[in-house]
Amino acid sequence: MSVVVQKFGGSSVANAERVKAAARRAIRAKQAGKQVVVVVSARGDTTDDLIELAREISEHPPAREMDMLLATGEQISIALMAMAINELGEQAISFTGVQIGIRTDSTHTKARIREISTERMRQALDEGRIVIVAGFQGVDEKYDITTLGRGGSDTTAVALAAALKLASTKATLFSGDANNVRETVECEIYTDVDGIYSTDPRLVPEARKIDSISYDEMLELASMGAGVMHSRSIEFAKKYDVPIMVRSSFSDAEGTWIVPEAAWMKDVVVCGAAIAKDEVRIFLDSVPDQPGTSHRIFAAIAEKNIAVDMIAQSAGSGGKAAIGFTVLRNDLNLTLATLKPLADELGAIIRPAEDVSKVSIVGTGMRTHTGVAEKMFAALAAEAINIRMITTGDIKISVLVDRNDGGKALKAVHHAFGLQTPRLGAGVSGGSDTGFKDRPLLRGGDAAHDLAVATQRLSGMEDIVISGVQLNNDYGRITVSDLPDVPGNCSKVFQAVATSGIMVDTIVQNLTGPNRAELSFTVPRSDLRRALIRTQDVIREINPQGKAAGESDIAVLYVYGVGMRTHTGVARKMFGALAEKGINITMITTSEVCVSVVVESARGNDALDCLKKAFSV
Ligand code: ADP
Ligand code: ASP
Ligand code: MG
Repeated sequence: MSVVVQKFGGSSVANAERVKAAARRAIRAKQAGKQVVVVVSARGDTTDDLIELAREISEHPPAREMDMLLATGEQISIALMAMAINELGEQAISFTGVQIGIRTDSTHTKARIREISTERMRQALDEGRIVIVAGFQGVDEKYDITTLGRGGSDTTAVALAAALKLASTKATLFSGDANNVRETVECEIYTDVDGIYSTDPRLVPEARKIDSISYDEMLELASMGAGVMHSRSIEFAKKYDVPIMVRSSFSDAEGTWIVPEAAWMKDVVVCGAAIAKDEVRIFLDSVPDQPGTSHRIFAAIAEKNIAVDMIAQSAGSGGKAAIGFTVLRNDLNLTLATLKPLADELGAIIRPAEDVSKVSIVGTGMRTHTGVAEKMFAALAAEAINIRMITTGDIKISVLVDRNDGGKALKAVHHAFGLQTPRLGAGVSGGSDTGFKDRPLLRGGDAAHDLAVATQRLSGMEDIVISGVQLNNDYGRITVSDLPDVPGNCSKVFQAVATSGIMVDTIVQNLTGPNRAELSFTVPRSDLRRALIRTQDVIREINPQGKAAGESDIAVLYVYGVGMRTHTGVARKMFGALAEKGINITMITTSEVCVSVVVESARGNDALDCLKKAFSV
């Protein structure tokens, strides 16, 4: 029998009518022959209201008590939903996270799921009941209630789907008939929009609905600010191969499938854009450019469970490097308190933190198409928006701009890539050979078997999975120092490089002093000379004192996985392993699906070995 997990967000259960409508949807699925698990969020603004209640009592409430309070929102919803279903003549039973056995670690307010026991769910489903589960909450070893972080009900839903799938796969493994998986499991996310859009339609009304998007694209978009899905839910989806459909609870319109990457996606250069306005940029100057320095800095921050984003370490000069990165504004004080003693010891200077907006573009086709960065920077330059920092990942580019320029920057970028116009996978259906409009294959058999084996090794369901480490010895790097920090300069450099048809891989731009920026980027070594000449021509025009230098003796290492940024330990482990071997890191970029570092080419193979060992791949 197939199982569907349906998740209803806050607005979808905001009043009695909506609860009843959601109940009818669940019943329809049941009557269509499926076993149904319903996950609900707190109603409407309940979670915000609860946070406000706490604030009225205390500026800094204990995290344990905060979770105790916040979990009540979802408990109201499950009871009402079960009543609504019973009222409509079907049998339903509600469970809190504790009752259903969602075990988490003890990181209150952002706990991670360790395991989910499926027996109670299974039993209720087999008795013919619709199972209602409170989203967003779990329980730790001490039986203390935990919550998963804002927006976490999405993660509960996908995690339940993953757990059910895993349990059924294991059951068939024990029966010795691996090709006969008992059931398929899918997940539907019902919300107040009818799918994933090219960007938040509330911010850019002409945004276009996407029909189908890959796990990696959605993971990057969600973690770069697209609040429509909790990014950790996409980690579960990818790791356990759970297809998700995001759709409206107010209509029957087909929504957006979030699925494994398909061949046609490689031509989608940019599928979406996102903005995050709740980050601050921290900048460390005069950092000794020695092995182990980045490790010490990021280990100290990771120790406090603070997720760091947009790490940009500039190639140092005079034995000193500059490191810039962003953290959530909520984590600013803790980050500064953590850094202060370390900076004092290293002789590094912490510059005042800046309010920024982060604007990102994401697309699978970025891996193979040239000129993407150039187009983004040109769009920003045309609006006279200054780029404060740049980092790139495998399938995304992020820039920091002044907080007030954020909305304008998002619109400019969205428009530059024509994201409002129909394309394959977003309004245009290709021939049957592309297959993207079809329902995704619900995999059983061998694929499910492999999955069960792969995930067996995890001690907790939400543990990081590192899928591979790679070394690339074919790149060179260009570093432009002393670039005046004014709108349009980056655009000029990349326009020159792009018009020569040179593929730029990683880009890092970092402010190095007042109104001065340093820009580093990697290009294929065979194009290094050409790229350097083009860059030097441009620099001469911009700033006759500016310097552009090329290095051919670099090695680039990539660590691939899922949820690399939110698992604060990954960068720590990576930098730690390299530091232990005395390998100096001269450039860092991070994203949810890849962390990459540049080291000197002579140490490339050593670095590869030690990273493989560190991540057991
Ligand atoms: P729920 O309460 O159902 O979980 P959320 O408010 O968390 O709903 O998510 C839905 C909202 O996400 C939408 O109303 C929309 O404004 C916002 N959003 C942000 N980025 C996107 C995007 N790329 N596509 C669709 N919606 C988006
Ligand atoms: N109710 C929680 C929140 O508002 C969880 C969720 O809605 O996903 O963040
Ligand atoms: Mg949500």
